[in-house]
Amino acid sequence: MIRIEDIIEKVEQNRPQADVELIRRAYLFSALHHRGQKRASGEPYLVHPLAVADILAEMRLDEVSVSTGLLHDVVEDTLVDLDTINDYFGEEITRLVDGLTKIAHISNLSKEKQQAENVRKMVLAMITDVRVVLIKLADRLHNMRTMEFLKPEKRARISQETLDIYAPIAHRLGMGKVRSELEDLSFKNIHPEEYNKLSKEVESRRPELEKKLEKIRSTIIKNLEENEVPFVEVQGRVKRLYSLWKKLKKRKLTIEQVYDLIAARIITPNQRRNCYLALSVIHDIWTPVPERFKDWIAIPRDNLYQSLHTSVIGDGGQAFEVQIRTEEMHYIAEEGVAAHWKYKESNLGRQEDDESLDELRKTVEKLLLPLVETTESNEDSEDFIESLKLDLYPKDVYTFTPMGKIIELPKGASPIDFAYAIHSEVGDTCKGAKINGRIVPLRTKLQNGDVVEIMTSPNSTPSRDWLNHVATSRARTRIRSWIAKQQRKDSVELGRKLLEKEAKKFNVSTKKLFKDEVEIKRIANEYGLGRPEDLMASIGYGKTLPRNVLAKYLGPDKFSKLDPDNKKDSRIESGVKAVKKLIGLGDDAILVKGVDNLLTTRARCCNPIKGEEIVGYISLGKGIVVHNKRCKNVKQLMVNKDRIIDVEWATSDKKEIQSVQLFAKTEDRTGMLAGITNAISDIKTNIRDARARVSNEDEGLIEVTVEVFDKKHLDKVVKSIKNVSGVIDVERINNLKKK
Ligand code: MN
Repeated sequence: MIRIEDIIEKVEQNRPQADVELIRRAYLFSALHHRGQKRASGEPYLVHPLAVADILAEMRLDEVSVSTGLLHDVVEDTLVDLDTINDYFGEEITRLVDGLTKIAHISNLSKEKQQAENVRKMVLAMITDVRVVLIKLADRLHNMRTMEFLKPEKRARISQETLDIYAPIAHRLGMGKVRSELEDLSFKNIHPEEYNKLSKEVESRRPELEKKLEKIRSTIIKNLEENEVPFVEVQGRVKRLYSLWKKLKKRKLTIEQVYDLIAARIITPNQRRNCYLALSVIHDIWTPVPERFKDWIAIPRDNLYQSLHTSVIGDGGQAFEVQIRTEEMHYIAEEGVAAHWKYKESNLGRQEDDESLDELRKTVEKLLLPLVETTESNEDSEDFIESLKLDLYPKDVYTFTPMGKIIELPKGASPIDFAYAIHSEVGDTCKGAKINGRIVPLRTKLQNGDVVEIMTSPNSTPSRDWLNHVATSRARTRIRSWIAKQQRKDSVELGRKLLEKEAKKFNVSTKKLFKDEVEIKRIANEYGLGRPEDLMASIGYGKTLPRNVLAKYLGPDKFSKLDPDNKKDSRIESGVKAVKKLIGLGDDAILVKGVDNLLTTRARCCNPIKGEEIVGYISLGKGIVVHNKRCKNVKQLMVNKDRIIDVEWATSDKKEIQSVQLFAKTEDRTGMLAGITNAISDIKTNIRDARARVSNEDEGLIEVTVEVFDKKHLDKVVKSIKNVSGVIDVERINNLKKK
């Protein structure tokens, strides 16, 4: 087992000012809580956090990272929670441990291979600090190195994930060494047979390859020396198995045909002109393959890798590759981000870590951003360069179905968006949602990693209110189209009823009327409408008066003969009569199906509540506006008597909540507001808003907004307020204030 003191020594060497006591405390804490736990190999669990910490120390990371390496599995695998970590180690380490724990959860959840791209994005989205990635990579590296005790299926699954997610991240961060090791280990565990076959094939050639490499090396050294080109080292390497395997498979080549099976690498002192000097020497010795020269120094790769690559034809006619780079370039090619960090630090001298971290963060952002490219514009990419946080994917959250499928949504999305993202049918019949097993309101904002379960019912329908809680255009469009469809359905129905009513007045058989489709269609066309249904909808919307439709149906002569109004002496009087007949309680009174119903709206002027006497007014384009019968505006509306319609409250088990504002006058003494709000909550009524002030007459004025179901409920609330000692009077404020 690696000893903690060895790790501390490494950190002290790289960072003389590091607070190594922190590492010691983290070690003791980890040892205490992982006590008794074993790895699959039978070794004490502590071996793993120690190894991870050691890898991080090798990467020359700071004491905070190394300590987090020691603690990284504590929350995931022991009873310790984040609050405890916070108490012992403070905010920074807590944040890092939290990030790692969350990533561990994603890995457990995602079962579908094809979602690799999304999982990778999600992992990145969750990273709020560069060090989280580095620690995660160290964790994965050690697990990959020590997986021989796991079952083959599990090994393959973890390896596939490594190949899909972690190796690309390592590559992107320029960490060539980590990436290579992760890839080769993954290859070995996913395709053990192919790995063995290829490995044997390479091994059998190794003596010959080594001999070739040695000859190449000595030729290069000799020529560099003769030409006085400075160099630090000339290395030889055989291509790694995984990348060799990929190449053989992709290009359908044999080993002999692979250009870069062996490669020589020249490391020069830190000036790039040394690289070009060396290149000219190489091209002098051997003939280059023209299209195989690449200058990654002049144009670095996306992950900041720099090197010259050239393929040349060797003595036996076999091609091989030569890579040329400076020491610094080489270090960066191997260590990637970690190297940048170290370089930045040495450049900054003894500056505090903040600044070097800042530099590093910018580098990492540059490296990782293309990985999380989105179709949406990145207009505020400048904005998120703030503090230590690396919110790489600020616009999206990644959530799961209970089956582990990933659903990608914009930030601020709710379970309603989620439901529509699964299927529009699911959205349209959504009645509730569970997040991580718990029932939540549909307006809840989803968080990264949430497992969302949508509950549906065939009777559930979208609600207009949903529009306030959705973030995707898909959900919005679907809800709107559902509303429009519903609105039209309602208006067609209402139009029919209104026309029926009018027909009865004229003693016209409604059966006959509606059967006469040709005639109704003709009338519809006269109004510029296509189908009979459109005509009904137009009547329902209040755009077309049923009386006029009837006039067209009957023709002028018949119409005036049958018109009940003409039978009376006074036209005005008859008008009133007609209205009375219309309002007079018929069996066909139209019910108000509740506030949500799209064709009925509550009048703002009187805000009628369930249980009060009401009357409807057909308003152009708005459908029926429901007023309190005693509302002063109703009198004025009576002028358009044709538009007044009888309405009733729908009887429904569903309780509709409605906000009502009340205004209480009280004696001016302390505690009045509290007294009133207590009285209201005592009868289990929600208070939406309450405020108090003092009038000029030294009276207390208290305004409360309460949520009530109906008139009875409201009366109860008013009574309870009146009973509070010190209350002089309670009044309802009828005019709803616009918000
Ligand atoms: Mn671990």
